[in-house]
Amino acid sequence: MAFLPYGRQVIEDDDIAAVAEALRSDYLTTGPKVAEFEAAFAEAVGASHTVACNSGTAALHLAMLAIGAGQGDVAIVPSITFLATANAARYCGAEVVFADVDPITGLMTEASLMDAFSKAVSRGKLKAILPVHLAGRMVDTGPMAALVRQFGGHVIADACHALGSTLNGLTPAQSAEMACYSFHPVKTMTTGEGGMVTMPDSGAAERAKLYRSHGMIRGGDVAHYDMVDLGFNFRIPDILCALGLSQLKKLDRFVARRREIARLYDAKLPGLSPHLQTCPSRADEALHLYTVLIDFKALGHERTAVMEQLRQAGIGTQVHYIPVHLQPYYAGRYGVERLPGAEAWHEKTLSLPIFPAMSDGDVDRVVEALEKALRP
Ligand SMILES: *Cc1c(COP(=O)(O)O)cnc(C)c1O
Repeated sequence: MAFLPYGRQVIEDDDIAAVAEALRSDYLTTGPKVAEFEAAFAEAVGASHTVACNSGTAALHLAMLAIGAGQGDVAIVPSITFLATANAARYCGAEVVFADVDPITGLMTEASLMDAFSKAVSRGKLKAILPVHLAGRMVDTGPMAALVRQFGGHVIADACHALGSTLNGLTPAQSAEMACYSFHPVKTMTTGEGGMVTMPDSGAAERAKLYRSHGMIRGGDVAHYDMVDLGFNFRIPDILCALGLSQLKKLDRFVARRREIARLYDAKLPGLSPHLQTCPSRADEALHLYTVLIDFKALGHERTAVMEQLRQAGIGTQVHYIPVHLQPYYAGRYGVERLPGAEAWHEKTLSLPIFPAMSDGDVDRVVEALEKALRP
């Protein structure tokens, strides 16, 4: 039986053909496929402007650069996220204030936002709030937009988990000023490595494009270029944009299958163990992760032992995430803060396999193995 990782890519023959065609073309990097991918993605998520780059991390970094974040600024980031959300602020010299999360959904709440805000004022000027649509569950960014409006700040959604999700009919790109996506192989669609940031206007998009390639403007004669600001090499190759265009055509199918798998788990998991709690998603959400909460203390098994037993049954699981405020770098910088919701989430969370190529039988396999692993 094939090993079931918690997430993996789906690559089909037409994806391979698209990449092969790009390899035979004149451009391996920065050719026509970049703008084509940006336009197709903009249409898919309902964004007016998009900038493609070489990772989700670069997308977050470009968003922070485009708003001019720097020293003296503060960004509010939920503690339950991937490291990159917080690091994007630090790359620009801005400080981070970690917000607590709801222990059942892992999402920032209005109350945790206000707590973080009261800490932020003592650390600098509130420049950005970076909500994370964890697992594909969308957090309401309305209160955040209202808050930053008073300070001339910005809402930059980390939508790396939420391609295909909507809340009140709006995609992450439509419900925040900027939204950042990743095309890492475990994400909803892939380019191997890659990212996209959506921008509210052409000025912001032009700034992001400037920082994507060394802060350099070509012009005048053919041999001339001016470096007007300190930029980076965050360019995404044409080869990968060709893969992105091919994957984008399958997005609806990938999302629909993720929803079906989530529904199967939602139906089969309740009652499996008194120590297991599910958090069903809404029909308009596309789950990137299928997370369950397990009270390992009450169960009497260590999480690592449960994960190891599942691994031996050919099932990969993962923990999303270790609270970022407890990472040595951040604890060293800001001291060890207590964020009880984030710590409670981290203590209990476990991500089960979910990806479009899973069969219904694979879901049964996971459920059976989990039932065994959770026996007293
Ligand atoms: C994957 C991910 C990122 C970073 O994306 P990369 O493409 O791996 O750089 C950032 N934030 C979250 C929440 C992610 O899941």
